[in-house]
Amino acid sequence: MYVGRFAPSPTGPLHYGSLVAAVASYLDARHNNGLWLLRIEDLDPPRESSEAPVEIMRQLQAYGLHWDGEVLYQSTRLSAYQDALASLQESTFFCNCSRKSTPSVYPGTCREKQLSENTDEPVAVRLRVPDKTVAIHDLVCGHQKWNLEQEVGDFIIRRKDYLFAYQLAVVVDDIFQEVTHVVRGRDLLDSTPRQLAIYQTLGCQAPTYAHLPVVVDDQHVKLSKQAHARPVSTSAPMPVLRTILRQLGQSTPAGVDSVSGLLDEAIQNWDIKAITKSTELPEPAGIHGAVQT
Ligand SMILES: [Zn+2]
Repeated sequence: MYVGRFAPSPTGPLHYGSLVAAVASYLDARHNNGLWLLRIEDLDPPRESSEAPVEIMRQLQAYGLHWDGEVLYQSTRLSAYQDALASLQESTFFCNCSRKSTPSVYPGTCREKQLSENTDEPVAVRLRVPDKTVAIHDLVCGHQKWNLEQEVGDFIIRRKDYLFAYQLAVVVDDIFQEVTHVVRGRDLLDSTPRQLAIYQTLGCQAPTYAHLPVVVDDQHVKLSKQAHARPVSTSAPMPVLRTILRQLGQSTPAGVDSVSGLLDEAIQNWDIKAITKSTELPEPAGIHGAVQT
């Protein structure tokens, strides 16, 4: 059984780039007669907007992207993350390094320090990674491999401010929701070896991955809320959907006059191998006219 999911952070409404990821994961799930779940990754309250989940759901529905079952909110899952942290304990250590002084591949500074949590100084929890290579066969990018110690390093699974790290929460929830296929932006490819390390340490099977090219503006900057990407308008979904299908290398059937009709055709004809292997998709010209509210 195929189980896919779309898992946005509620930092704001969906922009064109996040809609591309939603459409691709939806089509891949439905083409494979799978379930498509919606998970709201609301673990970082200061960055979030309380209206965003409702707005995101309204946008998905306007684009005909109807999810299965109840929406899962990560903010309701804290005890599950705490349990996972406990199961990983033998492979973790406390770390008091400052973010600034830490190189991108953590050099193991605190591995042997035996720091404790019961001090005034806040400590993060890091997963100790083995000197071992992990690999995936990505449905879009092909074979990918990483040496965990040399290319990734021990990484944070619970932050100093006691917030659970994205890497931990994603894996715990994908296991909980029995997700078999993760279709998401290539900006998250770097996260994949970390997530594989967590799966391995928990003794669980990792899902199949497909990392999509990310949509960038004319300065080659990924569309994001931080970079002031505009929300996708729901007033005219058809031309936007057609543009997304074209950019994903899919056929765009003529003579279809409804969102559901267009999606039905797209589900039937879906070919994940037709997605470009290049890392970027340009934000389409004229899309602002279509997406501006
Ligand atoms: Zn440290």
